[in-house]
Amino acid sequence: GRPPHCLLITGGAGFIGTNFVHYWADRYPQDKLTVLDALTYAGKRENLRHLEQTNRLQFVEGNITDRQLVDQLLARHDITCLVNFAAESHVDRSISAPDTFVQTNIVGTFTLLEAFRAHWQSQVARNPERRYCFLQVSTDEVYGSLTEASPGFTETTAFAPNSPYSASKAGGDHFVRAYSQTYGMPTIVTHCSNNYGPYQFPEKLIPLICRNILQGLPLPIYGDGRNIRDWIYVDDHCHALELVLLNGQFGESYNIGTDDEVRNIDLVHTLCDLMDDLAADLPVSPSQKLIQFVDDRPGHDWRYAIDATKLRQELGWRPKASIATGLRKTVQWYLAHLDW
Ligand code: NAD
Repeated sequence: GRPPHCLLITGGAGFIGTNFVHYWADRYPQDKLTVLDALTYAGKRENLRHLEQTNRLQFVEGNITDRQLVDQLLARHDITCLVNFAAESHVDRSISAPDTFVQTNIVGTFTLLEAFRAHWQSQVARNPERRYCFLQVSTDEVYGSLTEASPGFTETTAFAPNSPYSASKAGGDHFVRAYSQTYGMPTIVTHCSNNYGPYQFPEKLIPLICRNILQGLPLPIYGDGRNIRDWIYVDDHCHALELVLLNGQFGESYNIGTDDEVRNIDLVHTLCDLMDDLAADLPVSPSQKLIQFVDDRPGHDWRYAIDATKLRQELGWRPKASIATGLRKTVQWYLAHLDW
């Protein structure tokens, strides 16, 4: 087998990070995992508690903009791969308060790059058999918006971000690419479509809809609900990150997405049906009645669709979950974790 990887997973207590840590710990028990997370409103240490208690994971509370701390962690844990999930991730928050988006998504990513560069330069010659990699987990939102008929985003589509969130992610991503071009650092960027699954903070559409149905509250839908999103079950995203981390080409970017394009309103209808079915003892039923259209979000992208041909052809990735099976699993998880 390969020498063990020592992963530094930043933002590992958030939604996708948590799922990724569980995914990796299940498959690669020999690898060493360290999580650095600032535990903002979106991060929960409890998500990782049982891995900590069984010594499968070291958790460090701290900020990715703290260069000294990042330097220490890279050296102390002999890190080979840094997977950066740490971000401010909610578009609506980025509209009302963009400052922290610049700090975390741009300055934070830059800090990680600088620290990793120093660490990698000092280690790589001594450990030629090890695979060093800086993996930046990013979004398809950096590409902007599509019209109804256009083909999906590819890796060569120019960035055209429309929100402070996507602009800040694009800024960080540009630095990651530049570190490969300028310093020859082994970096890769991934651009994934909308994720859903366990552990998502209930400000995001799917857990929000489930929660509001349970509480009999209105189900807010932006505009006329016809905006189209490409949805991916979080485990399929984690699988793609695994393939990229182990076998992706340095200096490249990879799009990650399914062909499950769904209008927001149809997604909400599906969720209502699932909730009515899986939680038949609901106080409010049928939940479709709770749907309420609200003023559209400013700069709201009309459609995202991702072309993941490169990932499929180069690395053999295929999504395992259909939207029907993935949503059912997700709703079941939220119903089994009502305190969430
Ligand atoms: P999230 O908001 O659930 O989690 C972010 C995590 O980062 C939290 O645990 C938070 O505490 C931590 N964090 C925030 N600022 C930090 C800082 N300065 N220092 C250290 N930790 C900090 O986000 P998510 O949905 O899990 O997204 C993870 C990454 O994946 C983000 O970079 C996001 O841009 C990207 N992404 C998300 C989606 C999606 O649909 N959710 C899709 C594509 C890409």
